[in-house]
Amino acid sequence: MTATIHFPWETPPGEGEAIEVGTGALWMRLPLPMKLDHVNVFAFEDDDGWTIIDTGFDSRRTRKIWETLLAGPLGGKPVARVVVTHHHPDHVGLAGWFQRDHGAQLITTRTAWLFARMLLLDEQMVPVDETLAYWRSAGMDEDVFEARKAERPFNYVDIVADMPLGFSRVKEGDVIRFGGRDWDVRIGNGHAPEHATFWSRDCDLVLGGDQLLATISPNLGVYATEPEADPVGDWLESCERLAPFARDSHLVLPGHKLPYRGLPTRMRQLVDNHHTALARLLDHLAEPQTAVECFPVLYRRRISEGEYGLAMVEAVGHLNHLLRTGEITRTRRDDGAWLWKRKETSHG
Ligand SMILES: [Zn+2]
Ligand SMILES: [Zn+2]
Repeated sequence: MTATIHFPWETPPGEGEAIEVGTGALWMRLPLPMKLDHVNVFAFEDDDGWTIIDTGFDSRRTRKIWETLLAGPLGGKPVARVVVTHHHPDHVGLAGWFQRDHGAQLITTRTAWLFARMLLLDEQMVPVDETLAYWRSAGMDEDVFEARKAERPFNYVDIVADMPLGFSRVKEGDVIRFGGRDWDVRIGNGHAPEHATFWSRDCDLVLGGDQLLATISPNLGVYATEPEADPVGDWLESCERLAPFARDSHLVLPGHKLPYRGLPTRMRQLVDNHHTALARLLDHLAEPQTAVECFPVLYRRRISEGEYGLAMVEAVGHLNHLLRTGEITRTRRDDGAWLWKRKETSHG
């Protein structure tokens, strides 16, 4: 590796504050009530107003911080556009609020918009049968299963503002203009379906969302909506496709943690991390295992209760990938759990 990863700012902006990361380009942060306790959002200035990139969760606190930002660092200028990189609630949470209360235009991918609208309409008081079956198939521990099946699950509507009809679509190969710059739209997959990234033609900025994070590896999860999905395969394909565009001069503005330079190095790491995890997993599957029984080899640390769900969906993601590539097989245990095992012939 010739270049390393370099972080031009050691300290992120404080609450209600912004850091200028380029001409007319601001970096701000909003809090999240989770282990990953923040999301980055950005604002780009044009004559007709600001273009906001991602929004944070919808909460009273987040709306209040946005009001402080709009009146302070954003100088009371209107928000003309909201660009959403992907449908996860920390990114899309206040898009509808910006549309409805600020008259902003929403720009995102078609899949992100459809997923967001679908999940908003799908409020569940308790987990649905398909979710329970999915948890069983992953081999969820009995005590975790019993506790969660009676609980109100994570509901999108709790942290995402109502979204009115209407958005503007961006897709692979588009060029869009905001912040006095033209941006190539390049689509990633694996962490979220049809995740948009934006690569400036006029400066070194790249808006990476959660597709291009520096120090954390984005979750590649399988959910009951698509239990046979192969997000790891989608991720690897995206990384291989995006990597040729990466330059050491790029300044990546990511969805979490710090902006960085060294994207070519990071793109290799983002692929290599999963290849090494898949290799460890394949070794572990000399004996049949459930997805949950793969936590120790995949994560090599204790998984806390708060991380259990994310760890489980990502373990299934890696197993589905090995199944897809023909390296493992699976059989149903009596309790519904898939038992995954390495094919003896495929391992040298
Ligand atoms: Zn995300
Ligand atoms: Zn995120």
